[in-house]
Amino acid sequence: MARIGIGSNAGDSHDAIERAWAALAALGTLRARSSLYRTKAWGVVDQPDFLNAAALLETPLAPRALLHALKAIEADLGRVPTFRWGPRAIDLDILAYDDARIDEPDLVVPHPRLFERAFALAPLREIDPAYEPAYEALPAAARAEVRRLDTKTSSCELDGDA
Ligand code: AMP
Repeated sequence: MARIGIGSNAGDSHDAIERAWAALAALGTLRARSSLYRTKAWGVVDQPDFLNAAALLETPLAPRALLHALKAIEADLGRVPTFRWGPRAIDLDILAYDDARIDEPDLVVPHPRLFERAFALAPLREIDPAYEPAYEALPAAARAEVRRLDTKTSSCELDGDA
């Protein structure tokens, strides 16, 4: 079981994440998908807000094969490399993979910044209560930057004040 983080802040983010759900489902069985969360852009602030979500994916793919599959989905959904922390159509991360601990140059699991990112932990704890303590341990100010959207109206909200 893999925990996948999903983010987008360029183009039609709502549509990109819809397509990401479908692409992820093709890699195995999507056991859970979170609500959408809206997050202030992190690192580089002068860019659109992010839309974030998380998934529980049961997959026969080993971690490295899964990473390659996620990169292929990113390429497919039109991500063009910009700059670090810059706008991106879709970003897919392996947040965790069973209890695996991997520390290689191009693959670190659990994701090294998972426990400092409210935009990753907020959707993840919604679908996996084991991450609730890590979310609660974040500073209140960090948690306040991530807002859960009503998925039915998220598209309109984003259009309204993005
Ligand atoms: P990003 O810019 O967030 O898409 O990450 C770029 C690189 O991070 C990828 O090319 C991966 O090789 C590397 N990476 C390391 N650990 C992970 C992980 N757990 N999930 C996704 N990418 C990872």
